[in-house]
Amino acid sequence: MSDHELARIQLGADSVPAAVPTRDRFDVVVVGGGAAGLLAAHTVGTTRRGRRVLLVDAGLALGARQQAGVSQMIGYGGAGLYLGGRLYVGPTTIPAFPPLTLPAGVGAVLQGSAYTDRMAQVNSLFTRLGARISPQPAPSSALAAAVAAASGAGLDYVTSYPARLLPLAEREAVLRGLLAALETAGVQLAFGTRVSSAVRDGRGFRLALFPSGEAGAEPRSVWSRTLILAPGRYGLEWLVGVASALGARMIALPSAFGVRLEVSAAAYAPLTDINPDPRLQVQRGDALVKTYATCPGGRVAGVTRYGRLVASGVPRPVGQRGPATTFAVLVQPGAEAAASIWRDGAAAARRVNERVPGQLALQRLGDLHAGRATITQALMSNSIQPTDAEAQPAPVHELYSARYWDALTELLSRIEQLAPGTSAADALIYAPAEERFWHFPTDEHLQTSVPGLFVAGDGPGQSQGVIQAGVAGLLAGEGAAAVLDA
Ligand SMILES: Cc1cc2nc3c(=O)[nH]c(=O)nc-3n(C[C@H](O)[C@H](O)[C@H](O)COP(=O)(O)OP(=O)(O)OC[C@H]3O[C@@H](n4cnc5c(N)ncnc54)[C@H](O)[C@@H]3O)c2cc1C
Repeated sequence: MSDHELARIQLGADSVPAAVPTRDRFDVVVVGGGAAGLLAAHTVGTTRRGRRVLLVDAGLALGARQQAGVSQMIGYGGAGLYLGGRLYVGPTTIPAFPPLTLPAGVGAVLQGSAYTDRMAQVNSLFTRLGARISPQPAPSSALAAAVAAASGAGLDYVTSYPARLLPLAEREAVLRGLLAALETAGVQLAFGTRVSSAVRDGRGFRLALFPSGEAGAEPRSVWSRTLILAPGRYGLEWLVGVASALGARMIALPSAFGVRLEVSAAAYAPLTDINPDPRLQVQRGDALVKTYATCPGGRVAGVTRYGRLVASGVPRPVGQRGPATTFAVLVQPGAEAAASIWRDGAAAARRVNERVPGQLALQRLGDLHAGRATITQALMSNSIQPTDAEAQPAPVHELYSARYWDALTELLSRIEQLAPGTSAADALIYAPAEERFWHFPTDEHLQTSVPGLFVAGDGPGQSQGVIQAGVAGLLAGEGAAAVLDA
């Protein structure tokens, strides 16, 4: 039997473009090897033996990641399962959006026991693969005390219990187990490979795959009947570009906007010693004012997203941490607030970029409060030295509304009660910071408005954690399998 005849039997007679060699035709291509992509590939691979499944990830394979250290956010296991390992296994999912916006996370398609059953399914799989530690029913006494102290200071401390904190060895066992299961199921793995584009081709999709970081390399073209996009939070911009080019329905949610701080790591340690990424927030009407993406001892870097230069936190491995901790303070307006009192927020990043082209704007917190620009000399003797050496001193205080500074000051003064010295005059403010979110309307298996195209995990805003991303992967994997069965 010829290659082409075989493919016609496996994939359906009219669906395969004749020009694609058999080795490059798949039933399912999964983009992203984080919790969502791994669980999607695992679901199809283990329940539909013989189907051709390809999992592509731009980062390193598991062994290479282990040797290279833990600083990368991309590669086998994605960010959370590889780096964090705190599994939230209770009914409460970490909220993603303020009220009056949209149901948070996978809540858009799965609620109540339907969610907890799926969550238990992912959790049991991890247990079978080598997660031994039992769930803690409630926060440790230190975390419970921090949550209570936050409440006393008028802050919500966002956390969820029961939770399992997997030690490194157990995270590795889960990842190795998943890898072995994928290999046994015949799932093909392509690491160090970036998917650059996906276009409709017949009843499927044609994708261009490039070796990561190799400029001028020839693309490999593959074809797939179904496509699961699970590129994580850091792949969101790419996801939006590809999904919109394919014609998927998407709804842009109001941007979360603000600044990124660099504060004394020692001052913030009462919070980060207990939890490396403490999420603290206050609600102001239909908006959240919140800390976001804390990197203890990390650094700040300017990254270009959606055509804007924005401040991002870069974690450092434990032994290489610096004397400052960075976190963003973002206002995340709900739909009504974005159209009314926070109307100017969406333009903040553009304003800052126009004022300081090509670099982040920088100001000492003390100067910001005093309404004066930071001069270079003051910066030289500042106790906190900027980790982004390219950032330019600028009058950041002029570039946001008084309402934003009120919100920032209120949040910081409450945090000051928990971690004294955090808002010292020497703390640094980098601008702009911005996070964008999209909602992808899908069916209950996360199939978008484009038949055969699925989205899963943190990228499309369904999750903010490993277990939830894994649940999304399960759903998308089952959905893709059902399309193949039809
Ligand atoms: C430092 C850190 C620690 C965390 N700790 C925890 C924790 O302890 N517990 C918890 O529940 N959550 C944690 N999280 C959150 C958790 O990482 C995410 O919720 C989870 O990883 C989301 O899974 P995902 O599969 O959607 O995306 P990711 O895990 O981000 O995986 C996406 C993958 O897609 C790949 N990719 C992206 N674009 C492309 C492309 N175009 N082509 C090919 N590949 C691509 C990337 O290389 C990446 O490996 C942490 C996050 C960070 C940043």
